[in-house]
Amino acid sequence: MDHHHHHHHHSHDGHRHDHGTCVKDALARAEEVCTSRGSRLTAQRARVLELVWSSHKPRGAYAILEDLSQDGKRVAPLTVYRALDFLLEQGLIHRIESLNAFVGCADPSTQHSGQFLVCEKCGEATELVDPRIAQTINETAQAQGFQVTRQTVEVTGICPACRTS
Ligand SMILES: [Zn+2]
Ligand SMILES: [Zn+2]
Ligand SMILES: [Zn+2]
Repeated sequence: MDHHHHHHHHSHDGHRHDHGTCVKDALARAEEVCTSRGSRLTAQRARVLELVWSSHKPRGAYAILEDLSQDGKRVAPLTVYRALDFLLEQGLIHRIESLNAFVGCADPSTQHSGQFLVCEKCGEATELVDPRIAQTINETAQAQGFQVTRQTVEVTGICPACRTS
């Protein structure tokens, strides 16, 4: 399994893969990215990131809040929202608008507006980072005099793992 291809490919092998490695890598990358930017990945923020990464299915803030309370600590919703905001700002997670949920980014070192393939059967979101898609959207919008501030591309369908099962 290749855990280092983040562009144009799946960042994981469908349903069967060593997800522990995904989580471990994500936390290590987050630490690296934050250190290099001089921002602080506190224990709380790291824990929220870990919970977002609990699978490749986008998770809502409420589910994360519930997980945190299972840690035995009372956490205010605002704390979770703030942690999610921080993680979004750092590009460590993306928001899947159509699901109002969050998914971890496997390549947070460069700013990008990810494009997502969201499986309607298993709920997993696979990130594509294809500069051509972003460029086409930007150029088409510009041609209409429209200034793009944020791009969200979410494609719904059936993932390869679900198609073969
Ligand atoms: Zn995984
Ligand atoms: Zn990303
Ligand atoms: Zn699927």
